[in-house]
Amino acid sequence: MALIVKKFGGSSVATPEKIFNIVDRVLNEKKENDQIVIVVSAMGDTTDELVSLAKQITSKPYGREMDRLLSTGEQVTIALMAMAFTERGHQAISMTGPQAGIQSSAAYGKARILDVFPERVFSALQAGNIVIVAGFQGIVENGDIATLGRGGSDTTAVALAGAMKADVCEIFTDVEGVYSTDPRIASDAVKLQEITYGEMLEMARLGAGVMQPRAVEMGSRYGVPIHVRSTFSTNQGTIIREEYTVESNKRVITGVADDINAAKVSLVGVENKPGVAATVFKALADKNIDVDMIVQSIRSTDDAVTDIIFTILCDDVPLAREILDKLHETIKMESINIDENMAKVSIVGAGMLGQPGVAAQMFGILGEEGINIEIISTSEISITCLVAENRVKDAVRLIHEKLFLGERG
Ligand code: ASP
Ligand code: MG
Repeated sequence: MALIVKKFGGSSVATPEKIFNIVDRVLNEKKENDQIVIVVSAMGDTTDELVSLAKQITSKPYGREMDRLLSTGEQVTIALMAMAFTERGHQAISMTGPQAGIQSSAAYGKARILDVFPERVFSALQAGNIVIVAGFQGIVENGDIATLGRGGSDTTAVALAGAMKADVCEIFTDVEGVYSTDPRIASDAVKLQEITYGEMLEMARLGAGVMQPRAVEMGSRYGVPIHVRSTFSTNQGTIIREEYTVESNKRVITGVADDINAAKVSLVGVENKPGVAATVFKALADKNIDVDMIVQSIRSTDDAVTDIIFTILCDDVPLAREILDKLHETIKMESINIDENMAKVSIVGAGMLGQPGVAAQMFGILGEEGINIEIISTSEISITCLVAENRVKDAVRLIHEKLFLGERG
């Protein structure tokens, strides 16, 4: 007997026919004594449509009322799916997030799951039901409903699986699993059998968009294995877990990620005195602009000035330009240059710890191809290079071929 939580996203439940497909699949795969909890998203583009309805009423943010509105999408799906199971002759019951015991913070639109009290789900399972739970929503201490941020159904599923000590949380999606790199860029990308929570979070941070990062964090917190697999096939997908269980799945490099949403900001010839960097980055932080890959260079010939270079998201460029132009009035600098045609290429792998040669190999591959590295940054399990956007796909293909595939050959 196994307790399994399965999550199906909006495109998997977009029509009544698709809902029946899921129901049939679940019943086919279910073993006699398995207990099944299903977490679903809103049908198709429902959430987007609800957002656009609200926009026709107001452009102001109405956190509480907006969440009441958005949370209705998932409630449509759970009711229909419970009916569909019953039509197929299996006992089923739907539950909203609050009914399933999902307690959240009051940060409307981006609430965090604080705790899960799944007693009602357990008793419904005990009574022989398949339980269908609305994803993306929780109940606030004051009884209000709050939503968990776009893509939040993943997080509901993993948190519920964790709190119920499920054997596995299966996330069904339109790809076959987690790949070593984007298969649309490198046709020789490999589906990974396993990846650790830490590596998956790092891949997500650096541009791979498979799952909501908070869901991976939840998995890590509760230690529940997450199986990312396809809605359209019965193939084994990728298991995200704490440690590798198959020795040969452990490599120096687990994946290559890319992110074209990066812009390089250069403050050239800035006066070199204490407090300048603090002033610049505080001004950006005050407006919620995320900065990473910071470099401050020393000019040996001219100690009076320095260059400060960093990256931001392309979406933040107009706001950053405004803030920096304003600072230019008080801080002396030669010029401000912003280049949006930049991209990040990163390698990720827990196996890189204590392997000093990997960085040199990565830089060597880029150098041989004449791809210039503008900035480098590292974490314990990743190395990122900023390169020209029009070369990033080449960079991904070559690094993947030589470092990932090469290592396995
Ligand atoms: N329906 C919500 C969204 O579209 C939550 C989810 O699908 O995970 O973001
Ligand atoms: Mg999703």
